[in-house]
Amino acid sequence: MAIRQIRFEGDPILRKNSRKVTEVNERIKILLEDMVDTMYENEGVGLAAPQVGVLRRVVVIDIGEGPIKLINPEIVEEEGENIDVEGCLSVPNRAGTVKRPEKVKVKYLDENGQENIIEGTGLLAKAFCHEIDHLNGILFIDKIIEEIESEESHE
Ligand code: ZN
Repeated sequence: MAIRQIRFEGDPILRKNSRKVTEVNERIKILLEDMVDTMYENEGVGLAAPQVGVLRRVVVIDIGEGPIKLINPEIVEEEGENIDVEGCLSVPNRAGTVKRPEKVKVKYLDENGQENIIEGTGLLAKAFCHEIDHLNGILFIDKIIEEIESEESHE
């Protein structure tokens, strides 16, 4: 178990494009494990590799139903609209509403290098979109409709 350091807004790495994983090797598996540990340590619902300083298309998510590990995730279908509040471990003092699809289908490789499709609605769809945005250097604050006063903003 290893906790990696979270990069914060202002760090140029968060604005870069992440590279596809070409081989799911031991290094990638360790990265996935560390990312899950780091997500839990920081009580997040998702984490993308650039947030720990690694420019690879790797994402972990847990909306309370157990960890989901995604390599090279790609949205292949989306449906509907959902406006909901978002925050981000890399932008600790801000929150706001963002418009996302209500439902998405995501194609990805699992930790065995197997191609899968996973479907998410609501909170899970939001998490998929938010984390995949990170792989393209996009932060939720780029898409905020309405800023919301964060409870932690005075720390
Ligand atoms: Zn984020």
